[in-house]
Formats: sequence, structure tokens, C-alpha cells
Amino acid sequence: LTQRLAKAVKTMRGEARLTESNTAEMLREVRLALLEADVALPAVREFIGRVKEKAMGEDVIGALSPGQALVGVVQRELAAIMGADLGPEASQLNFATQPPAIILMAGLQGAGKTTTVGKLAKYLREQKKKKVLTVSADVYRPAAIGQLKTVTEQVGADFFPSEITDKPVDIALAALDYAKRHYHDVLIIDTAGRLGIDEAMMQEISAIHAAVKPIETLFVVDAMLGQDAINTAKAFSDALPLTGIVLTKLDGDSRGGAALSVRHITGKPIKFAGVAEKLDGLEAFDPVRMADRILGMGDILALVEEARKGVDMDAAAGLAQKIKVGGKFDLNDFKSQLAQMKKMGGMSNLMDKLPAQLQQAASGANMGMADKQVVRMEGIINSMTPQERAKPDLIKASRKRRIATGAGVQVQEVNRMLAQFDQMQSMMKKLKGGNMMKMMRGMKG
Ligand code: GDP
Ligand code: MG
Repeated sequence: LTQRLAKAVKTMRGEARLTESNTAEMLREVRLALLEADVALPAVREFIGRVKEKAMGEDVIGALSPGQALVGVVQRELAAIMGADLGPEASQLNFATQPPAIILMAGLQGAGKTTTVGKLAKYLREQKKKKVLTVSADVYRPAAIGQLKTVTEQVGADFFPSEITDKPVDIALAALDYAKRHYHDVLIIDTAGRLGIDEAMMQEISAIHAAVKPIETLFVVDAMLGQDAINTAKAFSDALPLTGIVLTKLDGDSRGGAALSVRHITGKPIKFAGVAEKLDGLEAFDPVRMADRILGMGDILALVEEARKGVDMDAAAGLAQKIKVGGKFDLNDFKSQLAQMKKMGGMSNLMDKLPAQLQQAASGANMGMADKQVVRMEGIINSMTPQERAKPDLIKASRKRRIATGAGVQVQEVNRMLAQFDQMQSMMKKLKGGNMMKMMRGMKG
């Protein structure tokens, strides 16, 4: 996919303005990227519409090609939809109420509600210095109440016991009464989920909501849920006035398209991300990082950013294309690559930007060379004839001597350069075709 994007970027060069026709191909790729990330179709449509609207007629400033300009719009708009334009306060919990501030947890069974209660209790106690009480209104599985008791005790918060014979609304009210009398700052109410959306479950949680009027009603959703996230989010959003979202299991390998679906349906901020089973696995939600993850091109975007500094995007995309189709890689390519590297601020700077597997392959090929060396290598290649560059096998002893003299270096240095080129070439072979795609996929998570 990233390859396809790079190609789309390439075919869009040389125009000064974003138009319907020069963005169509690129937008198709973005659409595919979102569907691949399991974003639900209505959310994809809305997003593409929004990007079109923002991008049309936008001037392509300075050195930017239309492709780069559009990537910029896509990235910016996706981050905005993820919540970047809501400001940092949007991900904060609201405590502006007479204590205790009540947090009601909603979501399907297995979404991670009980675990998240534990994580929130830990965060609120340790970071916010709050006195926290938890209670379980999940009276359908005896183990559920025990699970909440365990996680609550693990993080050193207070636990209000309930019985499976109690009614959920009564449990919530009793816990609220207890919290008031014991001066708790926060009461977190864990609830029962079902495996699917279920009218009785919705009525039950609505009744709890009406009885205790929580200041925060958090919809907990599993990032691995994929396309289904949109239906689940709609059901909960219709039944309850949600105030925020917790996206769990982001440590899994899903691209997290659920985030966009849920934002599309609820319009509510994603406040937290669950990133581990452990009770410290809770993070403030980062809209920009999420946007990059969904597009699956975090590191590539960093490269595009570098490229803005003056590198010929066309050449870079052309090289990527060559690697992909497994085309030959000759000294001309090597030379243009060396030139690109210089423009991007040198080898080491560029290496940092590559995904881990590529970095490994590159260092295996002894590519961590000093920038000074790059200049000398260019000099050597410059002293070769076009035929020699296209067919390095031609370069035998007498040619080597001529090249060395021309470049003002020793013959050994020509040998060393050719060896390095060999390694580079075999690295390129390793990266070609599906292998390259796999590596690119590897960087998505
Ligand atoms: P509930 O039914 O909504 O209360 O869900 P639970 O809190 O019981 O979580 C269901 C399963 O998901 C448990 O095995 C949790 O350990 C796991 N889980 C919850 N949140 C996360 C997370 O952020 N990352 C990972 N890897 N696992 C999680
Ligand atoms: Mg539970």
C-alpha cells in the first residue's frame, strides 16, 4: 500500500494546485488504506469527502508536489478527526462536580471495562491524587465482581462489595451513598456487558445512568473489533449520553480503524488508549499517532517530511518502485541514491527514519558509512563510463586503474566501493516484491 501511495505521489507531480483529477488516484489509495485498517465504510466516505473539500483548490506551496500536499491534507485531517483539533483538554476526565465524580463504564463483554476500571483507579490515585471507590454492577457472572475486587485491591483503591442477588441500580446507589459518607473523590461503576447489543442491557445501563447521573460515561471499545465497532458504538451512543471513549487492546496488531468509526458515530473524544493487560497499560489518547497508525505509513510520512527539504520525490518514488518490482539496481541507481542521501542530511539521519527491519538490512549491508565517504564514492562513480555504471561486471583491473586515477583515489578504494555496491544490490534483492510489502506491513503496528 505504501508503495502504491508513493506511486500515486509520483504521478501527481508538476501541478500547482490540487484538483479533482490529480487527487483522484491518491484518494483511491487513501480509501483503500482506511478499508484495510477496518474503518467502517460510512466513516471512510465521510473522511474522503472531508479531505476532498479541504484539498480542492489548495495551492501546492513551494517545493511540494501535489502528492505531498495531499498526503499533508490527509494526515492533518485524519489527526483532526481523531481529536487533534479538540485540544488537549478533550482527553481529560471531568471532575467539575460535587464529589464524588462518578464514572460509568459502558461497553460489550470482553471490551475491557473491568480492566480499565483498575487502570483508571491506578491513574487517578497516583497521578491525580484522588480517593477512588469502585463498584461492580455486573450481577450476571459472580466472577466479574471478584475480578473487579482483585484489580481494585491491586492498585490500592477502595472496593464496594456487591452481591449477584442485588439489583444493578440499587448497587450503584448504595455505592454512591457510601462514597459520599467516606469522602471519595471518584466513584467508578463497572457494568455488565453482553456479547452483542441487547435491549435489556441497554435499558439496565440507562437506568443506572438515570439514577446516579455520572459526570463521565465512558464507552469502552476493543480496537480489534474492526468494522463492527460502528454498530456497537451507535447502539451505546443512542442509549446513553456518552462523554468519552476508551479504546482498548491497541497493543494488538490491529491498525485501529475502529477509532475512526467510533469518532464518526459518537463525535465524542477518545480519552484513553489501553495498551497492555497490565494495570499500568493505560495512556492518554494520541490523535496524531493514531492517524499515522491507521494510514499505516508513520515512518514513510517522516520520510516525506524529510523529502520536503528538497529531495526529488520523483526519484525516491522511482527507486521504491524499482525495489518493488525487483528491477535491476545498477551503479546509476546507487549514485542517485547517494545524492538523495546527501540532500536528506546524510546517511545516519536517513537511517534513523527507516523501519527497524530495513535498518537491520542496511547495517547488514554495511551501509552505515560516513557522509565523507559518500562524497568519495560519488566521485568514483562519476569517473566511470555510462556502460560501466549500467554493467558493473565490466569493471576489471585496467578499468579500475583508469577509474581510480580519474577520481584521484587508490585502486583499493574502487574495490571497496564496488564491494559496497554489491552488498547494497543484494540487500535490494532481499527487499524486493512481497518481502518489501511485508516489511512495510510490519511497520504499521
Ligand atoms: P469486560 O468484560 O469489558 O469487563 O472486559 P475485561 O476487563 O474483563 O477484559 C477482557 C480481556 O481483555 C481480559 O483478558 C483483559 O486482560 C483483556 N484486556 C483489556 N484491556 C486490554 C488491553 O488494553 N490490552 C490487552 N492486551 N488486553 C486487554
Ligand atoms: Mg467486566
